[in-house]
Amino acid sequence: MKLVIKIGTSTIAHESGRLNIRRTEEICKIISDLKNAGLEIIMVSSGAIGMGVGKLSLSERPKDMPTKQAAAAVGQSELMYVYDRQFSEYNHTVAQILITAADIASEDRYQNFTNTLNRLLELGAIPIINENDTIATEEITIGDNDTLAAIVTTSAKADLLVLMSDIDGLFTKDPHQDAEARLIENVYELNDDIMALGGGEGSSLGTGGMRTKLEAARICTEAGCDMIIMNGAKPELLYDVAEGKPVGTRFHAKEKA
Ligand code: GLU
Repeated sequence: MKLVIKIGTSTIAHESGRLNIRRTEEICKIISDLKNAGLEIIMVSSGAIGMGVGKLSLSERPKDMPTKQAAAAVGQSELMYVYDRQFSEYNHTVAQILITAADIASEDRYQNFTNTLNRLLELGAIPIINENDTIATEEITIGDNDTLAAIVTTSAKADLLVLMSDIDGLFTKDPHQDAEARLIENVYELNDDIMALGGGEGSSLGTGGMRTKLEAARICTEAGCDMIIMNGAKPELLYDVAEGKPVGTRFHAKEKA
């Protein structure tokens, strides 16, 4: 099974932007274990800007582009340092790939990207992908890592995309505001009623919210891959995902590829 796991900023960083050490250690341990069990894993990790905010001791996520990009430059290396150290403990090798929308739009560059991705998997490394935030400006940005993860999933012809978020899945209403809200376990069709549930905002440090996750679901399911939204605060659920057990919300592919 080939799995793309997207980790949101809220999953690996505290509100301050500083690393959530316990969480990150758990995630890296479980992913290492799943890899040892034979799964092919690609990660898409957010957190560059968030961790840059923490490292530079900025009071909030920057709004202007140069500071955002500076924070990403600081945070991205911190992010990879953390992953490298954690995965090394379990004898796994990480590989950083940073891309922009322009790379995906260009046939040659896109081909290079997929070739490298496949080769890294053959070599047994764990590709860790993020948008190249230091050079992706508003006009050429993919914008959020939910969309990026969906693009990566289809490019790698993966079986499943797992979005680790700060919520258990897709709810019938906003669970932070409405006690009646129920988790939707399976989505077979991204109809207007489902898409209308994507109104919520994301976290203060990350970019995406439910809307970008539903857009990602559209990209995946149309390409024949399933997608799951699960709570990143419960990384042990990844074992259930690997065993095909129900976790969070599963968006079913229109036709399995
Ligand atoms: N690329 C951004 C970062 O690493 C995250 C984008 C997102 O949160 O979706 O900070």
